Amino acid sequence: MAEVSSSAVRMVILGRQGSGKGTQSLRLAETFGCVHVSTGDVLRAAVAAGTELGRQAQEIMDAGGLVGDDVMNGIVAERLAQPDIEAHGVLLDGFPRTADQADALERILTDLGRTLTVAVNLDVPVEEVKTRMMARGREDDTPEAIDRRLALYEEQTAPLLDWFGARGLLATVDGSGSEDEVFERLAEVVRTRLG
Ligand code: ADP
Repeated sequence: MAEVSSSAVRMVILGRQGSGKGTQSLRLAETFGCVHVSTGDVLRAAVAAGTELGRQAQEIMDAGGLVGDDVMNGIVAERLAQPDIEAHGVLLDGFPRTADQADALERILTDLGRTLTVAVNLDVPVEEVKTRMMARGREDDTPEAIDRRLALYEEQTAPLLDWFGARGLLATVDGSGSEDEVFERLAEVVRTRLG
């Protein structure tokens, strides 16, 4: 069997919509040489390809809702088992978003004989992310969808901070400031965890 580098990072990034998670995730994945898996990107690709999953997901995403846990858990389980992630590690962006997804992630990694390196919380206050999202003008960023997504975040995803904290995996990073400043803070946390 192929040797897997012990430095392969397996991390999760959590943060409100508009926290800069997507941008920072791309930079982190590049710097640490791991595979960036954005569940939002996976779903948007399915929408663009017009698959059955895409048809189901589009309506939910436009309304600012969450795609079902079973569907998401299946997508992530399949993706994490691929050889590129085995070899290089992964940064999960947009998953887990619910307690059920967090439990699933733990099972998936255990089945693969792997553990999580760190879960980073990219912390930006709610008023600040609202301002940023209105400014970026993405098509699914209607005021109603933004409010719904932020409410779902507080309700379903914020409790995961405690879930990761209880496992000693949580690191909170201040997401205010320039993109470079935030990136340096994030990279430092990951370097420390990698030892
Ligand atoms: P944002 O940048 O607004 O956080 P993402 O790109 O992460 O959005 O995801 C876009 C949409 O895709 C979400 O609003 C949600 O409808 C759906 N989605 C993405 N990841 C998940 C997930 N893990 N569980 C359920 N729905 C998801």
